[in-house]
Amino acid sequence: MMMETDILVVGGGAAGFAAALEAAERGAEVLMLEKLSETGGSSAMSGGCLAFAGTDMQREQGIADDAALLARDLKQLGGGAADDALIAVYADHQLETYDWLKAHGQVFAPGLEASSGQSVPRVHTVDPADLVRLLAARCRATGKVTLLTNTAARRLRRDATTGRVTGLLAEGPDGALDITARRGVILASGGFSRNPELLAQFAPACEHAVFVGGEGNAGDGLRMAWALGADLRDMAQIKGTFGKHPTDELNNHSCLCVYKGAIAVNQDGRRFVDESLSYKLLGEACLRQPYGTGFQILDAPIMASGDNEVRILDFERRLEEGLFIEADTLEDLARQIEVPEATLLKTVADYNRFVDAGEDPEFGRRHMVHNHGALRRIETPPFYAYPSTAAVYGTYCGLRVDPQMHVIDVFGERIDGLLAAGEVVGGFHGNAYMTGSALGKALIFGRIAARTAVAA
Ligand SMILES: Cc1cc2nc3c(=O)[nH]c(=O)nc-3n(C[C@H](O)[C@H](O)[C@H](O)COP(=O)(O)OP(=O)(O)OC[C@H]3O[C@@H](n4cnc5c(N)ncnc54)[C@H](O)[C@@H]3O)c2cc1C
Repeated sequence: MMMETDILVVGGGAAGFAAALEAAERGAEVLMLEKLSETGGSSAMSGGCLAFAGTDMQREQGIADDAALLARDLKQLGGGAADDALIAVYADHQLETYDWLKAHGQVFAPGLEASSGQSVPRVHTVDPADLVRLLAARCRATGKVTLLTNTAARRLRRDATTGRVTGLLAEGPDGALDITARRGVILASGGFSRNPELLAQFAPACEHAVFVGGEGNAGDGLRMAWALGADLRDMAQIKGTFGKHPTDELNNHSCLCVYKGAIAVNQDGRRFVDESLSYKLLGEACLRQPYGTGFQILDAPIMASGDNEVRILDFERRLEEGLFIEADTLEDLARQIEVPEATLLKTVADYNRFVDAGEDPEFGRRHMVHNHGALRRIETPPFYAYPSTAAVYGTYCGLRVDPQMHVIDVFGERIDGLLAAGEVVGGFHGNAYMTGSALGKALIFGRIAARTAVAA
């Protein structure tokens, strides 16, 4: 069957719906394809953390933050590998996206937290499945967005003379579709955490990590654009996030007690990293330890400082689920987790001394997380251990784009008519990762891609 639309969006996650809604609000007719029976992708199963800076919520809670500080943090995390132009796009458009979400009725949890890579508390939390449902409902309300589920994009189609992407071939429940997109195709098909072949090729170091992501995230969009000569970015930067319980299958999410003051130790009872670093770097360090796992060690006040509105900081729930190991003494804790007792005692005593002295000569830890929060002694029973390994929640690498979200080929030229947004885009995160910047990037870049396509 032949179909025609202004803008064709591939993928029904946060990036796809943000793009579709933005385009429809600007008067374009949009066709969205989702290969599964349900939309949502990784977006709907995420922790719902969004990194925004300079918001009214921050102001009301006395938190000084702005786009410049956010950009500085992102640049520092990127370690020279991230594209400054993409960081600037995020920083320049994040606040308007926060306001846009609010104007569409998005409600944020009242608390704000500091997490991976953040100098100040800037995690704004939403219910992620509700966020996708809200955007989908707003798309429907425009009367301009048609969504086809169970319909997978297969191959991009190019004009033989101009090279412009004019549409694509897809496959739906009733067979093949040949779709023409008058103003452009936006790839919002997510990452490839569900594609073992691509993972073996690009992330061999993560062989023993756990992989968690949307069922449809097989890198389809990446490969379709790659087939047209698209350049790729950050492919060597895939890393697992620290804090995933190695055997728990109830929770997709990591638990980050370290960001509230816990330490991380390996099976020998020794610390192995500055625990305030981005959890991607913690995950990388953890996978290098014996058996690729360790424990987060904390005491009662750190346990009590969790936040049950933020999944990665919801310690209470994990305690109720029996995932923490609890003991009245550190000796007993060491026995239960089978690490050498004397070593664990010495590790904690040394660490407490470093906290008092304000200097950690072993790993240089200075804060609870990134540049935020004073360190705490671990001294008040009961003590707890949270078994932790690394999980790859997203691939966060992929197509090279310019600041307008045009896909760029290996010779640095635009592939006309082809745009990308969300996790399929590479070059933004670089070496490490800030909590909330993947879902944020999906929404922000999705809207930018739509604006570019509408203006075409
Ligand atoms: C457990 C977990 C927790 C996370 N927590 C956070 C968090 O708190 N904050 C944060 O910033 N990030 C988080 N992330 C990462 C973040 O969720 C993703 O990077 C982001 O949501 C990606 O959005 P997206 O729209 O690009 O892709 P997705 O939401 O994955 O959507 C892509 C969609 O495209 C569809 N699709 C794929 N191929 C095709 C095709 N050929 N044709 C049609 N459709 C196709 C897929 O089925 C899917 O529905 C988390 C990820 C996971 C897995």
